[in-house]
Amino acid sequence: MGISAEKVTPFWEYKTLEQMSQQEWESLCDGCGLCCLTKLQDEETDEVVYTSVVCPYSEIDTGACKDYPNRSVNVPSCVQLTLERVAEFDWLPDSCAYRMIYRGQKLPDWHPLISGTRTTLKGAHIGLKSIPVVVDFPGIDYESHLITKP
Ligand code: SF4
Ligand code: SF4
Repeated sequence: MGISAEKVTPFWEYKTLEQMSQQEWESLCDGCGLCCLTKLQDEETDEVVYTSVVCPYSEIDTGACKDYPNRSVNVPSCVQLTLERVAEFDWLPDSCAYRMIYRGQKLPDWHPLISGTRTTLKGAHIGLKSIPVVVDFPGIDYESHLITKP
C-alpha cells in the first residue's frame, strides 16, 4: 500500500484577512518595502501618486525598517496596516499581498510564502531595488521624483 500525502491547503487560500492570526497576518508581508515610498495626495481629487523618495529609516537592500518598533514615533506619517486600512489604502502596490488577498486574488509564485525565499522578489522585479530610489532629505522636492505606481 502506498503512502498518500494529504495536501494541506495553505491558510491564505481559505482564510480571509479577518480570520488570520497575528503571525499569519505578519507573514503575508513580503518585505518589498514599496509602502515606504513617499506618496503625494492631490488635495482636490484625493488622488495618490508615488514618488521614488524612500523613508530614511528604510533598509533599501532588504526593504526592512531600521527601527520597526518605533516607526510611528520616528515618522509620524508612518501608519500601521490594519484590516480597515487594507480596504481603504487602494494606493498600496498591486503586488502587496494584503491587497491581493483582499481582492480575492491568489498569491503569486514569487511570494515568499510560496517560494520559501525572499530572493524570488528580485527575479519578479518587486521591491525597492527595482526602482532608482532617492533617500529622503530635508528640503527635497518630491514633485520632481514622481513615478508610476509600483
Ligand atoms: S507593500 Fe505590502 S507587502 Fe510590501 S512591504 Fe508594504 S505591507 Fe509589506
Ligand atoms: S518608519 Fe520604517 S516602516 Fe515607516 S515608512 Fe519609514 S522605513 Fe517604512
